[in-house]
Amino acid sequence: MCDACSVKGINWSLTNGPTKSRLEVAKFYTSFESKEIKVRLCYLCAMKLFLEGESTFLNKNKRLRSELEQTNGANAFDW
Ligand SMILES: [Zn+2]
Repeated sequence: MCDACSVKGINWSLTNGPTKSRLEVAKFYTSFESKEIKVRLCYLCAMKLFLEGESTFLNKNKRLRSELEQTNGANAFDW
């Protein structure tokens, strides 16, 4: 499952087509309080992340960001 597509409810292997339905591991380096966060991304999402950069990509994928924040505990005890 592609993490970005799954929060949007998109069938990633359909949108990517059979030849490109493999997942890549991507990392966010700066967006989560200098913690390194790993995500699994399909070819299309990995391409978008590469082209847009972390902050733009996460701004367009707000639900992914909040899920990653929850699962990785970022901001959890920050206040
Ligand atoms: Zn995807």
